[in-house]
Amino acid sequence: MSSSIPEIVDVVIVGAGPTGLLLACLLSIYGIKFRIIDKSVDHTTQSRALVVHARSLEILDQLGIGNEAVRCGEIAKSFSGFFHGKKRLEVDINILRTRNLTKYPYILILEQSKTEELFEDFLLKRNIQIDRQCELINFNEVCNNNNELIECTIKDYRDNIEGKLIKIRTKYLCGCDGAHSKVRQNLKLSFPGNTYEETLFVIDCHVKFLDQSKNEKIINDVEFNLTKSGICLLFPLKDHENDNRYRVIGTIPHELLKSSKELKFEDIQLCISKHIERKIELYNSLWMSTYRTHHRYVESFSFNNKYFLLGDAAHIHSPVGGQGMNTGLQDAFNLAWKLAFTIQGKAINNNQLLKTYNDERIRVAKDLVNSTDRIFAFMTSSNYIIQFLRLNILPYIYQWIFSPLLNYISFLRDAFFKRISMIGIQYHHSELSITTEDLKKDKIQSGDRIPYVYTHSDNLLSLESTNNNNNDDDDSRIYFHLLVLIDPKRVNSNKLFLFVKFIQDYYSHLIKIHEFQYSEDTKEIFHVFGVNKNSEGAAFLIRPDQYIAYCTKTFDIQHFNTYFSKYFSQRRV
Ligand SMILES: Cc1cc2nc3c(=O)[nH]c(=O)nc-3n(C[C@H](O)[C@H](O)[C@H](O)COP(=O)(O)OP(=O)(O)OC[C@H]3O[C@@H](n4cnc5c(N)ncnc54)[C@H](O)[C@@H]3O)c2cc1C
Repeated sequence: MSSSIPEIVDVVIVGAGPTGLLLACLLSIYGIKFRIIDKSVDHTTQSRALVVHARSLEILDQLGIGNEAVRCGEIAKSFSGFFHGKKRLEVDINILRTRNLTKYPYILILEQSKTEELFEDFLLKRNIQIDRQCELINFNEVCNNNNELIECTIKDYRDNIEGKLIKIRTKYLCGCDGAHSKVRQNLKLSFPGNTYEETLFVIDCHVKFLDQSKNEKIINDVEFNLTKSGICLLFPLKDHENDNRYRVIGTIPHELLKSSKELKFEDIQLCISKHIERKIELYNSLWMSTYRTHHRYVESFSFNNKYFLLGDAAHIHSPVGGQGMNTGLQDAFNLAWKLAFTIQGKAINNNQLLKTYNDERIRVAKDLVNSTDRIFAFMTSSNYIIQFLRLNILPYIYQWIFSPLLNYISFLRDAFFKRISMIGIQYHHSELSITTEDLKKDKIQSGDRIPYVYTHSDNLLSLESTNNNNNDDDDSRIYFHLLVLIDPKRVNSNKLFLFVKFIQDYYSHLIKIHEFQYSEDTKEIFHVFGVNKNSEGAAFLIRPDQYIAYCTKTFDIQHFNTYFSKYFSQRRV
């Protein structure tokens, strides 16, 4: 970075937490010119967000690092509930693995520091540098050769402890700068919501379970403990069966709340057994922190279609369900391709595409903040009636209703897994999602995430992340994919032929076409997409972020073109 003539880039990403790092990885795949800055010296060394859900692993898979993430973490095996120190509930998470919903049908426990390392390695392999010790101080709009640009003022502390002021000009500014986002504050966007009364403690330490023999202890079991004193969760960390390493997170025990001095590990250590009414010992603390959580989301995820907020800068909520970091990753996945298409001129220049970022993601954030808020409030309320329900009724509801339902009714099991793993998030209401009348009542709708298709001849529809040609233009990740499912005997071939030809002629720079004819090998794909072998076939247009944009059985060229050309440029070949 030079201090005199401002460098000009397409995107400046502020913040190299998990959200900013993923956005950088994705923009690098598209070959976008960007800078990523962070005020800290290095990535976090703290475990922080531990849970990586299936949807995030699918995203990591697109970078080719999904399996590496699984190798670095632990797959949670079961979920046990202790009420007043007694085990009342055990959900075998393996039961969720029986259905073919995703390549990653489990909950992965992976420390945030490791997730960030994976992204950093990805960037390093592509020779992309993160400008650390560089803090965004301010930004304003300037005119540069008749172009409106954003000029960022950055303090660079790398060679100078006082910091050297430098400027970078950019078309787009992405605030991935966490809960206290400077980008959000400078745009004067409100961040309404509340701060919970409860303070949480987070400790990574070793745990000895004095109330369980080694044989009774389940490997990779996530435990939650509910007592009158509060709530406490134990997450097994990598290799915990050998060295007893756990993440312990909970509300501060009542007896410590009145103390005005700073909470130390020893304080928790002394009262943990009483707090959760079990005989356990915490020792060898590796990291401890306390924090108050909030539930808030920003009034708009974008401003003037030039400024974007992602991750904690846009939404924060209680740690219920471990959804925080995962939601930030999805923000990045949703925005990256829209930004890239706009910068590269593949999207028409009216910002219609960029507008859909706010529309799609703010709904998800609202839903998440509200649902996690309800659960957190129920779990921590000191109201006598709610406490009674929580400690005396809830275990039976779990044991006698919830658990058997999950065990025996696959539809409910799928619904539950889709919810917690975030693979059920959909954009049905988005302007970008169009289903033609003939398909409106069908299994798959536009706005759904592409269903995972497992076939015996491997995953035919993985839209693979690997690009063996080293030619970025051939990389399937930067394209839409049109999936055409046909029964050759039944199809009205002329209409379909013309539809596919039109797309080839006008949109082959954006859309790759995949045709599947009904056969033993492909019947699973037809089944999952709800296409009857005796029907006339159907076409599904899949976005680069793996959501279905458009689906039809009528193959109406005019209808498709009216929709698609509203956002994307045509190129006659
Ligand atoms: C102690 C603690 C425990 C947590 N535990 C959990 C948990 O158990 N489960 C869970 O889901 N989530 C947890 N979280 C939340 C989780 O860590 C966040 O949801 C996640 O980190 C959000 O990622 P992000 O990239 O959006 O923001 P962040 O990780 O906050 O990254 C923001 C980055 O921006 C940088 N930055 C900020 N301002 C500037 C500036 N002006 N200029 C340049 N750089 C800037 C910061 O240095 C930082 O690196 C925890 C958080 C904390 C603090």
